[in-house]
Amino acid sequence: MKTLLSESELCEGVERLAAQIDQDYGSQPVTVIAVMTGSLVLFADLIRRLSMPQRVGVIRASSYRGGTASGELSVDAAMLIDVTDRDVLLVDDIFDTGKTLDRLSRLLAEMGAKSVKTAVLLHKRREHEVPIRPDYVAFKIPDEFVVGYGLDYLDMYRNLPYLAVLEPDEIAATAAELQS
Ligand code: 5GP
Ligand code: MG
Repeated sequence: MKTLLSESELCEGVERLAAQIDQDYGSQPVTVIAVMTGSLVLFADLIRRLSMPQRVGVIRASSYRGGTASGELSVDAAMLIDVTDRDVLLVDDIFDTGKTLDRLSRLLAEMGAKSVKTAVLLHKRREHEVPIRPDYVAFKIPDEFVVGYGLDYLDMYRNLPYLAVLEPDEIAATAAELQS
């Protein structure tokens, strides 16, 4: 595994993200929503650095990749708190094709949110398939498959404190190990 961002680089990135968000919202209350499960680690670090009054909630989205390519998106809002007339900030791990945050932003607007903005740790340099772009980005990264700091491969590696590129042979080895 090749480390792409160290623990201290990630920490600085989250601090930058929080500073930008704080500057834009000031003391305005925000409903901050974690897109589970990938944003779990970022979310815990980010909300403790934001200064405004916050309501905190979660929504689940998964791409049913089974591998490393984007697939059919499924959304589960069963655990979501009420967002009616709230200023919502959606927090996700990565903006890749953009389909997840595009779909979730529209869903929360339909649910009556007053405003919806998006914050991500990572933004992949690639062709995006949707009209929106994330409002807050900590790092732009190359189009490689990354794990750690919440990001998984087959639900493994989320606990790594750093961000690493999972090479094709490591992807194959992990899949084989989980099958045996
Ligand atoms: P999008 O809908 O923008 O294509 O993809 C967003 C979701 O795909 C992310 O929330 C994340 O779960 C997953 N994803 C995209 N790229 C990567 C990656 O390089 N590594 C991992 N682990 N997940 C990724
Ligand atoms: Mg995700």
